[in-house]
Amino acid sequence: DSDEAKRDALILPGTGRGTGEAGGGGSASSATPVVSPLHHPADGPPPRAGEELDFADPLAIDLAGYDAVIVSPGVPLNRHPIVAHAHKARVPIIGDIELFARARAALPAHRVVGITGTNGKSTTTALIHHILETARIPSLMGGNIGLPILSRDPLAEGGVYVLELSSYQIDLTFTLDCDVAVLTNITPDHLDRYDGFEGYAASKARLFAMQSEGHAAVVDAWSEAEYAVLDDAPDGLGFMLSDEVAIGDQANWPALQGPHNAQNVRCAVATCRILGLDEDVIEQGLRTYPGLPHRMERVAEKDGVLFVNDSKATNATATAPALAAYPLIHWILGGLAKTDDLDDCAPHFDHVVRGYTIGEAGPMFARILKEAGLGVEESITLEAAVRAAAAAAKPGEVVMLSPACASFDQFTDYEARGQAFRDAVSGL
Ligand code: ADP
Repeated sequence: DSDEAKRDALILPGTGRGTGEAGGGGSASSATPVVSPLHHPADGPPPRAGEELDFADPLAIDLAGYDAVIVSPGVPLNRHPIVAHAHKARVPIIGDIELFARARAALPAHRVVGITGTNGKSTTTALIHHILETARIPSLMGGNIGLPILSRDPLAEGGVYVLELSSYQIDLTFTLDCDVAVLTNITPDHLDRYDGFEGYAASKARLFAMQSEGHAAVVDAWSEAEYAVLDDAPDGLGFMLSDEVAIGDQANWPALQGPHNAQNVRCAVATCRILGLDEDVIEQGLRTYPGLPHRMERVAEKDGVLFVNDSKATNATATAPALAAYPLIHWILGGLAKTDDLDDCAPHFDHVVRGYTIGEAGPMFARILKEAGLGVEESITLEAAVRAAAAAAKPGEVVMLSPACASFDQFTDYEARGQAFRDAVSGL
């Protein structure tokens, strides 16, 4: 997924231990947090939100007797020592979505839509949520988007939980039976955390394997890997290949332009039809969908130059449609690369007026662009890139941040990077 971990790990060895920095959000005690065992159920009621918490090294704790270790999806299961530690004590490792799945029996009657895929998850999730709201069906959007699902009040009877699910979240989930499970697409990503592409695809397939008969899958299947996610799904799972889903005229949906959004729309429309919504309300939702920040977001227009923030494009596959969308682009790219090429973007290089590289991948990307005969400025920082691009751009041209990289080398996350772009633009 092009998602980046949005929250820190709940448990990490040595968290907060004696760095001497006055961190920890104003703890009343000393700068070095107390190290004590984590809370055990036998110790009485757990601390309440806002109460001071102590941190401990989970590897130093005897996990026998615990029901589960709950980790953030940011914890790499393929190499974090907590995994072996928990396995030795036969304690399962789960995430917040699994807790939600276990709580479902106690919730008022509802349905769950789970959306995964390498790219397009957030757009498809937000679009389904928006169409449900347009139809006045109570809908709660969560998972890898917005607030954690467990922090929200449950829906009343008849509502729909619309959950964006990264592969990392699916890896921590074992009993979520989605009424509709959706796959937008799969291309190589996050291979540092999986056993090759097959391992990554297998993680996605588990979302469908968890479904029960009579529920539905929406898979926009264009490649073998995309078909294969249904291999372990139960017989009798109704599924719809969303490439067979006819949709209306994309020209009518301002925030859903480009071929990649046609894919997201197919998935959302197929899902809404399965949920029983009628065509008029679906079309009304597509027309009024407002879009998401950091996804080809039009930030400003100055002296005839449009500034576009596509900070959410954290891999080359996600950047390609953004390059396709405008004919004359001053392209700001770079950060922490996920692959050592820009092959997915290359077909649109004729739209690039000039490249401005930033971050760790800067030198590599500069080399690739130069080899393709493009002009490049090695700007290093985002602010310098915005200034250089704004100075060079002529009326009618576009300055776009679509980095094709993760942000962690220079920013806390893609949102901070997008905000830095907005700030740099307004500071021009
Ligand atoms: P995700 O949540 O999977 O990261 P988003 O909907 O947030 O996906 O979109 C992130 C970026 O990925 C967008 O800015 C766009 O450039 C690109 N993108 C969106 N949908 C698709 C798609 N279906 N296929 C390829 N790229 C996409």
